[in-house]
Amino acid sequence: MATQWSEAIAGIKGTIKGRVLTPDDSNYEEARQIWNAMIDRRPAIIMQPAEAGDVAPAIKFARENELEISVRGAGHNIAGNAVCNGGVMIDFSNMRNVRVDAGKKRAYVGPGATLADLDSATQQHGLATPVGINSTTGIAGLTLGGGFGWLTRKHGMTIDNLVAADVVAADGKKLRASDQDNAELFWALRGGGGNFGVVTEFEFALHPVGPEIFAGLIVFPFVQAKQVLIRYRQFAGTAPEELNVWVVLRQAPPLPFLPQSVHGKEVVVLPIFYAGAVAEGQKLVERLRNFGDVVGEHLGAQPYKEWQKAFDPLLAPGARNYWKSHNFTELSDGALDAIIEYTGKLPSPQCEIFIGHIAGAANRVAPDAMAYAHRDAKFVLNVHGRWDSPAQDASCIQWARAFFDASAPYASAGAYVNFMTEEEGNRVAAAYGSNYDRLVQLKKRYDPENVFHLNQNIKP
Ligand SMILES: Cc1cc2nc3c(=O)[nH]c(=O)nc-3n(C[C@H](O)[C@H](O)[C@H](O)COP(=O)(O)OP(=O)(O)OC[C@H]3O[C@@H](n4cnc5c(N)ncnc54)[C@H](O)[C@@H]3O)c2cc1C
Repeated sequence: MATQWSEAIAGIKGTIKGRVLTPDDSNYEEARQIWNAMIDRRPAIIMQPAEAGDVAPAIKFARENELEISVRGAGHNIAGNAVCNGGVMIDFSNMRNVRVDAGKKRAYVGPGATLADLDSATQQHGLATPVGINSTTGIAGLTLGGGFGWLTRKHGMTIDNLVAADVVAADGKKLRASDQDNAELFWALRGGGGNFGVVTEFEFALHPVGPEIFAGLIVFPFVQAKQVLIRYRQFAGTAPEELNVWVVLRQAPPLPFLPQSVHGKEVVVLPIFYAGAVAEGQKLVERLRNFGDVVGEHLGAQPYKEWQKAFDPLLAPGARNYWKSHNFTELSDGALDAIIEYTGKLPSPQCEIFIGHIAGAANRVAPDAMAYAHRDAKFVLNVHGRWDSPAQDASCIQWARAFFDASAPYASAGAYVNFMTEEEGNRVAAAYGSNYDRLVQLKKRYDPENVFHLNQNIKP
């Protein structure tokens, strides 16, 4: 296959500073792997840029040889669009650099950087910006779809903190996108899900955070789920924006602070993060213990960047995953009942239902201020279908779909582009919501031939 383009490949190898891998290279197999083990695709060529200047030649090569382009940040996206079959994969694994200007409170982030790369650089200065909750996730995909995590209630979504981006457009032109330069492109990048060009650097605003914060888990028995969730709902409605309490319903992993009797049993977990003084966080969570009979807790002061890795062991790469998600403006009784019913039927020990509470700063941004439109979302619910064996594919996927349908009547209209699986074609317009038409117009301007279509695609 590669022989078809062997001359062109030899040419591109001499042109770019980074690596060019074909299926006969020893690193090829590893390079084509992404987080979700359900995705098994074989690009014709994997280009691993060493610098921003390598991207335009990669795009040119693909277009001249009529090959599809996929773009990989850190390869976490559940849909697996980071890797293509028979095309060119632009893989940013070797561009993970993060530079921090502590005086200006800015971070300049390479397109292959993970959340851990960013947090580790910014925390050296006691700074951070809102990102997700699993440290191996890529900044690039997370940002282009929106991005929320423990700092979102206080400081907004990741896109709300994006100051500028350097982009290589479909025609190979390098563009700066910010409020001052190519403002329309900047608008589209912030939620447009990788449709508008290849980003080679992100610039973020930073905020003082930690380095020590108060965080941890409180765990309740599943028999008390309804009571815990109702009390949670009341509590979440009045909790200050520094305080983040999320909910995870799953079978208890064998964590040392949980009695053996609950290992493998359904539980309600409240992950807690306080973005303020440790002593204040300690005081605020006392009320949570009255939600039910605590079966275990692990709470205390710890470095922010370690808390950012707390869920990594449960979300390691290599498992099979099928996710569905809804946004909610409120957690109605019907939604809580559906959550409890489907937690009672978990098809694998790794499947879980999680509710992220994001009400606060993100809701104060106008829905048309940038591409991400769902500014009414106060909770994001994600159904994590997760398992190891292909033999469980059908039962786990069916469970995720059935729960998604059962909870749909209580959800708000939008969808989060970053949690969509491959075949959610009919939800793409819903994901871009009220900004979809404007995004189509901008797609026509910046990528009229839909060169960047391996994403939740906005068709020009
Ligand atoms: C375990 C896990 C935990 C998660 N937790 C959170 C969370 O807490 N909060 C949250 O908001 N999201 C979360 N997500 C979702 C996450 O935001 C998306 O999966 C995101 O797409 C991951 O980014 P990536 O760069 O790793 O992905 P990739 O799969 O590498 O890229 C995803 C897509 O982004 C585009 N893209 C990537 N890089 C570029 C680039 N440089 N230029 C242009 N387009 C590009 C491409 O279209 C690509 O297909 C989580 C996902 C997982 C698997």
